[in-house]
Formats: sequence, structure tokens, C-alpha cells
Amino acid sequence: MRPVFREDTPVDTRGNKILFKHYRDAAPILKDRLGKYCSYCELKFPQTHVEHIQPKSLEPQLENAWNNFLLACPMCNGIKNDSNINSSNLNDFFWPEKDNTFIPFVYEKDRAPQICSQLSDNLKAIAERTLLLTGLDREPTHPKFNIRTDERWHERNTAWGKAERAKFNLQRHPTNAMREQIIDTATSTGFWSIWMTVFQDDVDMRRRLIEAFPGTCSSSFDADTQPISRPGGQI
Ligand SMILES: [Zn+2]
Repeated sequence: MRPVFREDTPVDTRGNKILFKHYRDAAPILKDRLGKYCSYCELKFPQTHVEHIQPKSLEPQLENAWNNFLLACPMCNGIKNDSNINSSNLNDFFWPEKDNTFIPFVYEKDRAPQICSQLSDNLKAIAERTLLLTGLDREPTHPKFNIRTDERWHERNTAWGKAERAKFNLQRHPTNAMREQIIDTATSTGFWSIWMTVFQDDVDMRRRLIEAFPGTCSSSFDADTQPISRPGGQI
């Protein structure tokens, strides 16, 4: 899961914080800052919607609060729906705008995101709850996998295929132009974590991926693009 930095509340031309009359009004700014990707599954989706971390049905005072916003695809949004998330249990989950969410999840070919085996038991439990929250663990063998509506599995596999072909092509044509082309393909495909994983031995490509996907939290990585603990986060 890509760690993101949505920045402070946007300001108007006079420098005053924008008070959103409707949460949907925040969508253009969120998409500009974070890219048109689901904050959870990383799907690039034309219908990415403003997501409320704490559901507006349960915490109506946060319905238009910038710090409660992310972006989510209809699938992640629908599964998360009205899960009971409030200020007292936020730390039961990892959040991509607060934690370095690249650390707890491992991406492998033909598998749903897995929990990193090196985590402590406490962090594993948080990661498990985070996967369940948006159904990121769902793959065709999962009892709740819906083959008609859940596009994430298929799209994730498509991204894997593209990333592997890109890596192969780069080995045959190791040019800057090829690297730029791959970044264009990656940003138009989505699934940043998959590209970071496939190119895990190529620091230059990983630097480019961190820079090219809008809003990636660059301070969650050291100079060699290895993930590091995020200040203020649980991981
Ligand atoms: Zn999603």
C-alpha cells in the first residue's frame, strides 16, 4: 500500500483554509495531490471517489474535514463502507496518509497482498485488520471474492505482467528513454507497490517511481529507496 502525503488543508487565493461545503468538492484537489489511484488497493480508476477514513455516517462532524479524506475505488469503498472506525480505534489499522504502509504488506505475483512475516505480532494484527477492512486479501479462492464486481485481482495481475515486461525490456535496452517510457506506463497503469516490488533491485527506477506517482510520501524511504519508519506513524 503506497504511503501518501496529502499535505495540509488547501487554501484559497487569500491564503485562508478552504471550508468544503460538500466533500465531493475536495475530489479535484485530492486527485491532483495523490493521483487518480485508490489509496488502499492502488487501482487507477476513473471513478475514484472521496473516501472518509472515519465514515461520515458515524462521524458526521468529519464529513467535510480535509484530514478525514483519502481516495478510494468503489470496491474498497464499498467493502469498508460503514466499518466502525472512530478516533478511539484508528490505531487498530494502518493508514496510508499516516503510516509507512509499504512496510507491512508484501506483493507477490498471482497473490493478493500478504502480510510481511517480519512484523511483530502486534503489527501483524494491525496489518490483518487493515487487509480485512477493504478486502485487499480477496483473491479467487477467498469465500467473499466476487468475480463479477471485484476488478482488483485482474487489474493487479495485469500490472504485474506489464512491470515484468518492462523490466525485461529495460535489460535489453538500458536507456534513459526506456526508463522514462516505463514510468509513463507505470503511472498510467497504477499499482505503485507492484512496480516498486518488481524493480526492487533498481534504485534508480524506484526513485523515479516515488517521484512520479503524485503524493507518494518520499520521507518514508531512505536514499536507497528502502522503506523507513514514518514519523508519527505506527510503522
Ligand atoms: Zn481500491
